[in-house]
Amino acid sequence: MSINDDKKYIWHPLTQHQLHPNNIVIKKAKGALLYDEDNNEYIDAIASWYTCMYGHCNPYITAMVSKQMQNLDHVVFTGFTHEPATKLAKSLIRILPKNQRKIFFSDNGSTSVDVAIKMALQFHYNKGSKRNKIIAFEDGFHGDTFGAMSVSGLSVYNGPFKDFSLDVERLPVPNDKNIDEVKKQFGALSSKGNVAAFVYEPLVQGAAAMKMHKPEHLNELLKIAKRNEIITVADEVMTGFGKTGKNFASEFMIQLPDIICLSKSLTGGLVPMAITSCSEEIYNAFLGPNMEKGFFHGHTYSANPTSCTAALASIELLNSEEIQKSIERIKQSHKTFISRIDKHPKVRKTRQQGIILAVDFNIETDRYGDLRYKLFDFYMSKGVYLRPLGNTVYILAPYIISNEQLAKIYVAIEQSLDII
Ligand SMILES: *Cc1c(COP(=O)(O)O)cnc(C)c1O
Repeated sequence: MSINDDKKYIWHPLTQHQLHPNNIVIKKAKGALLYDEDNNEYIDAIASWYTCMYGHCNPYITAMVSKQMQNLDHVVFTGFTHEPATKLAKSLIRILPKNQRKIFFSDNGSTSVDVAIKMALQFHYNKGSKRNKIIAFEDGFHGDTFGAMSVSGLSVYNGPFKDFSLDVERLPVPNDKNIDEVKKQFGALSSKGNVAAFVYEPLVQGAAAMKMHKPEHLNELLKIAKRNEIITVADEVMTGFGKTGKNFASEFMIQLPDIICLSKSLTGGLVPMAITSCSEEIYNAFLGPNMEKGFFHGHTYSANPTSCTAALASIELLNSEEIQKSIERIKQSHKTFISRIDKHPKVRKTRQQGIILAVDFNIETDRYGDLRYKLFDFYMSKGVYLRPLGNTVYILAPYIISNEQLAKIYVAIEQSLDII
């Protein structure tokens, strides 16, 4: 292909084109590997933003989807329904935390969060209670549409738009030192009676470079929310479907969320789709004899049958013994790697949750500082696709990655310590 046509016609996401005009052409992907135009191989150590967890072009998912798309491509999902959607909803409810009862469809992680926020705000509106504030964590990331951006805490994404935000109070992420203070702050905000929802990434904040917090701390905050009738929204767009070591990160807490957002690996990386699931209590608050009480939110491609089929096939794979064993294998493998590099003088900190592993280097740098580009180029030269953020590099590889491929990623990270 002509790279000039890319430069001439395309505006890439999250890119400063003046500083970074070049994009690498990827021609093919299979299993855990990406191939460029010259047939160089790269291990996809971040599963293309945590999507293709069952491997690129997974033969089971592609076969199921290809069959589906010859039978029913798309149909309006208001007034009509179809088997791919009902089958998917049923299989999701079976594996989601046990209070989740209804499945609402949209197109991407950001819209699944916007849907959740609108559900929470209208839940209170429908009950006649005036609640206009939302609580979210500092450093959280929930997407790039206006609602999702409002509850995100990273200024590089939402700085120019902060005057156009929903009314959001930001809470520090709890740790051993600040937990009492954070609880006090949450309690004080909650007691005013005007907080509609608490939106959070459970246990692992992906875009904050895999920042992690303890389930018992989050559970304390969820208890305060429950006590104050604040709708809890778990954004599991990144953490969902096995990455934390359980199907959903929310399963690590006793307090269950009222609403859960899902996308990314939902469809195994084949096609876009997102889900916002909710409890019976949320759903029931939208029932009534007049139309206005209903939830008037809908996307043209809601519950696209092809996407539903990709999701259904992905969940079958997730539930398989093979994938479950693989998750265990990767967890153990990461543990061994951590014990190998933890004491290295250039390693400040390591952390792991399930198959997610992060290494902080002992160096100060900006999130998009020069170091990350230097490291990125180094890893690519070693045949490994990693996306360092600031002084952190993390691994979130497809479940089907081999031990040899894992070893190659570890070696690349170890060798990169010599160039920082
Ligand atoms: C990626 C991500 C989103 C946004 O999803 P998009 O599909 O990119 O809109 C929202 N929340 C979390 C936790 C994410 O990791």
